[in-house]
Amino acid sequence: MVNASRIRQARELRGLTQSALADRVGVRQPAISQFEAGLAQPEDATLEAIANATRFPTAFFQQDAPAEFPAGTLLFRARLAMTQREEREIYQLAAIAFEIAVALRLRTTAIPARVPRLAIPPEDAAIAARTLLGLNPHGPVLNVVDALERAGVLVIALPSALPKRDAFATWAGPDLGTPVIVLCPTEAGDRLRFSAAHELGHLVLHSGTRAPEGGLRSLELEANAFAGAFMLPADDFRVEVLALGGVNLDTLARLKSRWGVSIQAMVTRAKDIGLINEEQRKYLFQQIVRRGWKRIEPVFVPPEKPRAMRKMAELLYRNPPDLGRLAADHRLPEEYVSQLLKGYATAVEMPPRAVVSRAPAARSRVVRFAAPKDKPRR
Ligand SMILES: [Zn+2]
Repeated sequence: MVNASRIRQARELRGLTQSALADRVGVRQPAISQFEAGLAQPEDATLEAIANATRFPTAFFQQDAPAEFPAGTLLFRARLAMTQREEREIYQLAAIAFEIAVALRLRTTAIPARVPRLAIPPEDAAIAARTLLGLNPHGPVLNVVDALERAGVLVIALPSALPKRDAFATWAGPDLGTPVIVLCPTEAGDRLRFSAAHELGHLVLHSGTRAPEGGLRSLELEANAFAGAFMLPADDFRVEVLALGGVNLDTLARLKSRWGVSIQAMVTRAKDIGLINEEQRKYLFQQIVRRGWKRIEPVFVPPEKPRAMRKMAELLYRNPPDLGRLAADHRLPEEYVSQLLKGYATAVEMPPRAVVSRAPAARSRVVRFAAPKDKPRR
């Protein structure tokens, strides 16, 4: 018995329209449409052809419908930045990764989710979230992705980049009880960290399950405010900025290495906590544009990778994981699982365990932001 939704899933993951798949399979488009609607079952030879065209094993199409995986914040800005076909491709890449993760979690010990859902202002929610995630309320978050995984967030690393966005989030699985953050590859660690915190903000503040009728802009602003407060606690940030002589681009460039937050996000945060006024914020952004920092900012912050999926694969399929077995067990193409696992960190790539640094920079020298393989700082 072929499952209708699996045909659609494989087709969308390969970025094919119904017509394009029909051409490759040698049937007419309405036939594909009927298979996907569950109105007709493909014959064995047609199923073979669909499997060949999508490069999925036939067993993939014969399993149950996929786990519940709402598109969440993928819908928030997606339409502005990408075509619907691109959006569906990204969605299916993440949905299948989620399904693997859930299956692997059932065979290992998953960390229970500790992500709160709060109906309070973003600033307060960020403070509460730090505590509930087990983070020190003060100082930089040394590794945002690691902190999320330790709080039971299922972090999915997609192999391909998204146009104009780095991440999306959703509550998924049974009872929509699993918080998921999907990250796209980017070289700029500061951007990735802020995006991850922004999506955490959506999970905490907006349940992340569906786009509301209107007011998306206000949700985005709230998630940004949450991320700013989560990454740069007001008092700590204020003390450090003032200790270095106040808000200017050179101060912020120095602080960027310690806090792992972009200069642009720090300017916004400085405005949010009243360190500068709107005039000064505008002036600083003009300078940022003039210096070409809008495209490339100075001070490299290493990107972060999630670890959990690969760790589970190592536990169950040895290290390095036997990709053939992993793929076969999940009825997937080996090439898909191989691509997916590349986005995850090996044990040696993981940064030191300390999640927050202790000494405020005001009373110590400014140190470089911790890169993977650096020794833990005390
Ligand atoms: Zn958002």
